Amino acid sequence: MGDNGDLKEAGNGSLDAAQTQPEIDFENHQLGTTVKLSDGTEGRIFSRGARNKDGHLTYTCHLCMVVNLPGERVMLTHIAGRKHQNRLSHPVIDADTFRKISHKNEQE
Ligand SMILES: [Zn+2]
Repeated sequence: MGDNGDLKEAGNGSLDAAQTQPEIDFENHQLGTTVKLSDGTEGRIFSRGARNKDGHLTYTCHLCMVVNLPGERVMLTHIAGRKHQNRLSHPVIDADTFRKISHKNEQE
């Protein structure tokens, strides 16, 4: 044993600490949310980044171009906020704008 190279889920980042219940809830109920983009595809609104020094997972909202929001409480507050809800109410989201921040985030 000692070889756990196959345990990482592809494309889901690496989580080296055990997840807390709020983190799991957020993953189950929010992280997979998609929006329709102007090129006919769907994009995921949120992506998850590394843990910060306080132990919070950080999140990016691609809809609002907000990066490194720390923790699920902050994310839920952001999601409930007027800015996010306003953008969410647009029937179609511009694909180029959406992708711009997605790519930036992937390179870290
Ligand atoms: Zn947002």
